[in-house]
Amino acid sequence: MSLDRAAREKLVRALAESVIQHADELTSLDQAIGDGDHGLNMKRGFEAVLATLPGLADKSLPEMLKAIGMTLVMKVGGASGPLVGTFFMELGKALPEQSIRADLVAATAKAIDAVKARGRSEAGQKTLLDVLVPVQVVLAVGGDAKAIAAEAAQAADRTTPMLAIRGRASFLGERSIGHMDPGSRSASLLISAAVKVLEF
Ligand code: ADP
Ligand code: MG
Ligand code: MG
Repeated sequence: MSLDRAAREKLVRALAESVIQHADELTSLDQAIGDGDHGLNMKRGFEAVLATLPGLADKSLPEMLKAIGMTLVMKVGGASGPLVGTFFMELGKALPEQSIRADLVAATAKAIDAVKARGRSEAGQKTLLDVLVPVQVVLAVGGDAKAIAAEAAQAADRTTPMLAIRGRASFLGERSIGHMDPGSRSASLLISAAVKVLEF
């Protein structure tokens, strides 16, 4: 879990690439049940994060995560910036400098609680929490990278039949049913990218 500088830089690049390469897909998902900006929002945010390299990777893992979160909160308009940004910031705050996997389990739980508070939301409302919450459970029970990435993808898929109760998609009521939640898809992409680098 203690990543050296090269691994930290690799992690940042992998996270950024995962959403930037899928920006069009994220936009299409948001066009169906939102305002069509999710791909651009995530791309803008992670391009801003990439622009803070190489200095970003000089920081310790907790400080680096906090800095990523602050950049996302500042640079991304819309709901996703403050929510995804809060996740990274709180994860950084909760992780000790020398962290082991058990610390990550506790820290991700705290970061998810912060997202819930910020979004006044819970799992089951067709938001990125519908990916974060079940993936955290797989992490907590000791799932490996493959199990975590698989759960992330399946959890994003499971948002398709859900009724949106938070965010713009909720304005559509029943018409939100039948489309994957864009924020869940981006969360799944970020999680898959992260576990590949972390090699759980
Ligand atoms: P906006 O909806 O402001 O245009 P984005 O399109 O970038 O912002 O992000 C939309 C995503 O944000 C949704 O797909 C959903 O996953 C997430 N989201 C929106 N509102 C909330 C909320 N209150 N709690 C948790 N997640 C939310
Ligand atoms: Mg949007
Ligand atoms: Mg918007």
